[in-house]
Amino acid sequence: MGVYVNYEAGNHRDWGWTDPSYLHDIVLTPLALRMGRWAIAGTIVHEIAHLNGAPGGNDHAAEVPRR
Ligand SMILES: [Zn+2]
Repeated sequence: MGVYVNYEAGNHRDWGWTDPSYLHDIVLTPLALRMGRWAIAGTIVHEIAHLNGAPGGNDHAAEVPRR
């Protein structure tokens, strides 16, 4: 399965998102890109978790677990 990483230049509120109706698309925004490579990598990993079924909203399943 391939994943498309898209860029939304007009969103300055979120770091990124996925749309459940487009199962291969991840969107990144200027907020994530301005924070540097680790924020970009973290956002992509987070959104891949959503593509693999982690719920959104107040559920934290897509977040990195604390040690
Ligand atoms: Zn999320």
